[in-house]
Amino acid sequence: MTRITFYKGLKEIGGTFVAVETEKAVCMFDFGFSVSGRCDDAVRLRPDSLVEDYVRIGMLPAADGIYAEKPAAHLGLKPYGQSEKERFFFISHMHIDHMGGLGMLDDGMPVYMSEDSLRLYRRLCAMGDIQQRGHERCVGIPYGQSFTRGDITVQVLRIDHDVTGASGALITTPDGTVVYTGDYRFHGFYPGASKAFGETCRGADVMITEGVSVSFDDVDMLSLTEPEEGIRTEEMLQQEMAQACQENDGLLVINPYNRNVDRIHRLIGTFEAEGRTLVMDPVQADYVAEFYPDDDICVYEKTMNGRSVPEWFKVVTLEDIRENPGKYVLQLDYQDQYAILDLKDVVSRYYHMDGAPLGSYEESYHKMTALLEYLGVPYQYCGLGGHSRPYYLKLMVDTIKPKTLIPLHSFRPEQVNSDQIGQRILPEEGQTVVLEYGECRLEV
Ligand SMILES: [Zn+2]
Ligand SMILES: [Zn+2]
Repeated sequence: MTRITFYKGLKEIGGTFVAVETEKAVCMFDFGFSVSGRCDDAVRLRPDSLVEDYVRIGMLPAADGIYAEKPAAHLGLKPYGQSEKERFFFISHMHIDHMGGLGMLDDGMPVYMSEDSLRLYRRLCAMGDIQQRGHERCVGIPYGQSFTRGDITVQVLRIDHDVTGASGALITTPDGTVVYTGDYRFHGFYPGASKAFGETCRGADVMITEGVSVSFDDVDMLSLTEPEEGIRTEEMLQQEMAQACQENDGLLVINPYNRNVDRIHRLIGTFEAEGRTLVMDPVQADYVAEFYPDDDICVYEKTMNGRSVPEWFKVVTLEDIRENPGKYVLQLDYQDQYAILDLKDVVSRYYHMDGAPLGSYEESYHKMTALLEYLGVPYQYCGLGGHSRPYYLKLMVDTIKPKTLIPLHSFRPEQVNSDQIGQRILPEEGQTVVLEYGECRLEV
């Protein structure tokens, strides 16, 4: 018998934590932070009780067998390493709500992810772009390949999402197959990967899917027969940026999400073709250089923040930009927002493209737009997001046609539906679904 326990992240966007347990092994995914209204960056973290505090405020799950001895004892949980079963994690992608807690796990816990995710994770750690410490015991698996621990085999499959390295998993247990999609979309650079994911997983016994895009409005998924209108793609964003170069004489400022490395790589080429150079901060530059070492990498001296950069990076000065603003595009992380104060009279436009602060539900968003308005810098939103529109969610479910569908990672998972499935289960936090001979039932 395989038991699938749903600890967290069912009716929220973040903190998905599920354990698939067989006789010999426990496969867990993912390990990010819940998005919590109770947590405030203004409150000092307590280094001596980090894990305990994160669990107590509900940012991380209270689960046996994953934390080190001391925090586990304080929390009344069993520590890692005391069970006969092989315990391990699969991490779908490098978004904080899916991987932010990695540094809180016991050092010995094996953590699997795609090879590209691991490459990115190593750079995030090196650049200090993670919460607390990095987790050492990670294993990168090339897309399409499998690994086995105990009686569980996991195939790591590429999927399209707005972060480099994104993948989902096809998990095979002695009692049946379980698909975990992670987060996905069809409007990125790799829509074929999302399509192939569905085809590889066709006929799975259980499908655990995200449902972010049905979180906000009323959606009748069963009635969707064609794609929603006006879905913009990564390719279209490139064209929009080329056009922006042609329509503006001054400096363009962009605020992208730095872990979507493919977009930045493509933008370097798009801007180059329009006679402009993309100038980055050293963290963004590092991520691009890791995956695309042949790109021309330029960093802006004013956002280096005391970091040194490899000699082959070109450093662009404030004077360079002020002399020739129309020859540059500046990538500006929100943390470096005040760099715009030196440039406000030569900036044509500010493009907000999926960088922090993400949206109007964040307090910083209003401060960002207020400052730009005060400085007279025109603001334009041109982000894409990383989640399938509802039609494409349905397309994925219909392609896989699982015997049991379990939607989560959504404010309204009950809106994820299809007439191609055997049954749908909507577990509550802490509930277990039992899988036997390919059939599922909610354990009572
Ligand atoms: Zn997510
Ligand atoms: Zn994500």
